[in-house]
Amino acid sequence: MRLSAIVNLTTASIEYQETEPKLKQDFLGGRGLGARLLFDRVGPEVKPLDPDNCLIFTTGTLSGTTWPTAARYHVTFKSPATEGYGYANAGGHFGPALARAGFDAVIVTGQAAEPVYLEIAPRTITIHPAHHFWGQSTSQVRLALLGTDRDQKDESVAGIGVAGEKLVRIAAIVNDGGRAAARGGPGAVMGAKRLKAIHVRAEERPTSFPEFAQAARQATQHLIHDPKMSGLMTHGTLVLMRPKNLSGDLPAKNHQAGQVPFIDSLDAQAFEAHRVKRRGCYACPVRCSRDSKADGELYSAGIEGPEYETTDALGPMIWNSDPNLVIYANYLCNEYGLDTISTGVVIAFAMECRQRGLLSDPDLSLEWGDPQTIVGLIERISRREGVGDVLADGVRRAAQRLGQGTDAYALHVKGLELPRQEPRTAKGFGLGHATSNRGADHLYGLPALDLSGNWETARKIFPAEILDQLMTPDDETYKPDMLIYGEHYCALTDALGICKFSTTEEYSLLPEDLAPGLTALGIQTDAAALLEIGERIVNLERLYNVREGFRRKDDQLPRRFTQEPLPVLENVPDPVTGHTRLGRTLSVARLYDFDAMLDRYYRLRGWDADGCPQPATLERLGLSQKY
Ligand code: SF4
Repeated sequence: MRLSAIVNLTTASIEYQETEPKLKQDFLGGRGLGARLLFDRVGPEVKPLDPDNCLIFTTGTLSGTTWPTAARYHVTFKSPATEGYGYANAGGHFGPALARAGFDAVIVTGQAAEPVYLEIAPRTITIHPAHHFWGQSTSQVRLALLGTDRDQKDESVAGIGVAGEKLVRIAAIVNDGGRAAARGGPGAVMGAKRLKAIHVRAEERPTSFPEFAQAARQATQHLIHDPKMSGLMTHGTLVLMRPKNLSGDLPAKNHQAGQVPFIDSLDAQAFEAHRVKRRGCYACPVRCSRDSKADGELYSAGIEGPEYETTDALGPMIWNSDPNLVIYANYLCNEYGLDTISTGVVIAFAMECRQRGLLSDPDLSLEWGDPQTIVGLIERISRREGVGDVLADGVRRAAQRLGQGTDAYALHVKGLELPRQEPRTAKGFGLGHATSNRGADHLYGLPALDLSGNWETARKIFPAEILDQLMTPDDETYKPDMLIYGEHYCALTDALGICKFSTTEEYSLLPEDLAPGLTALGIQTDAAALLEIGERIVNLERLYNVREGFRRKDDQLPRRFTQEPLPVLENVPDPVTGHTRLGRTLSVARLYDFDAMLDRYYRLRGWDADGCPQPATLERLGLSQKY
């Protein structure tokens, strides 16, 4: 039986309790447990950086077991970016170690008088002074606490860098050297609490029941022999770079383009030259990750990564074609503790403002792709220096401070910077970015069945009569149907503490493949019951935001995506150099009727026209008492 702990940093007190069984039955662990705890503890009267905000670390039902990819942990909080429901999720070894130390949840509240760190040993938490770590990078603290910068299976550190200390609203929590719970500003919440790091030590790996071990082995075999997983297993998410450049789904220059003429420099093949070794999270047979090295004259660094989202954010989005600089910028974000996605988007915002004569800086050119600007802005944002102080609060607040119509170039939803899909070509993602309860979020629903041509899965899930339209990327009619299924399955995946690359990314494992493992753990369930838990979590997250005043007006995309068409160009080899360049216009991507997609999405969900769950929906999901 794992515990929940409440760590009050104001009073330096710690309370331990058994996690309520009914709570786990209705919400499982991870994201579900976090959503319920936040809903009950942090109301509209609490501001994100107030001591009364909670930073809730939760482990999933399967975290720390031998289930393939059972590597994730979840952090839930009121978001400094959106002022609403916030969460972040990361892999590595921290989550499994926390689970194996005996914790379902560690709820951190209050504010320490001086910097502290937490030491978590099996079923025990101790608060230690951390003055000596304040001002240090994430890797310096990790090295000091672990005594090594090498991977530790049973011991892990998650912490903030200078950005979190400075309450930068795009600050991340970094664990295991190169993994980040990044989105929505959890690093700023941790900094506001003066909590520098959490050092966790697991106990011996528990022996699992033979039926569970058998189910886990079967799932592992299924994953590693699924042909759909081969690209991810060979190249990681960088496998997406080239196909997205073909389809116009590789956001560039702050979404002024959806393709780049320098894809040969940034595709999976190009990064192979920088790869040191393949890498994976705890219990993961997929091993989509890698260690890479920047070996340019100016930039030298080693990191875990980069993965697709970071590579687009710190590459095409800011018109940087140098893989060494992508790796180095990723390294700086990890050291300072910044969300790489939001960092790329705020730099792109600054560059477009400069392009339009609305922003300048005495020391930095702010020109597209300028290396000094990229490195300089990352440092200035982290330390809140100069223009970095404006950008440190994210693009929404930066545009409010700069005025002059700069909000037209601030690409966010609900205050969270857009992840790296192009809503005019990836229309399910566009709808998902708009409606996600944590702000623009590609991992809230991962609606990519149409883009990846995954007919095999689509046939299993959706009625035959809608398949042709659902699987046509440009057809908007049934994108809400695809998104909603993905949202339930993503929420379930996060509640179990497993990786979406085993579930909703390629649908290698379906809910019915997860049920035998859970049944072997004593949780009698089936696919329908599991998906209903996912739906309950999404609705509770929506209720949190409804209570905060969020409505349909907040489920909107930036004007660029609803009003500006996007040319999609041919990728052709240059006859002289042989390098891929962009040729003639093949098509023009646009959103035809975003409101119609939103209407259908609300209707299918059982929400009213303003985006609020209807009483009958809440009744069905057992959430009536929350409204
Ligand atoms: S698939 Fe990749 S991100 Fe997911 S658990 Fe495995 S190594 Fe980690």
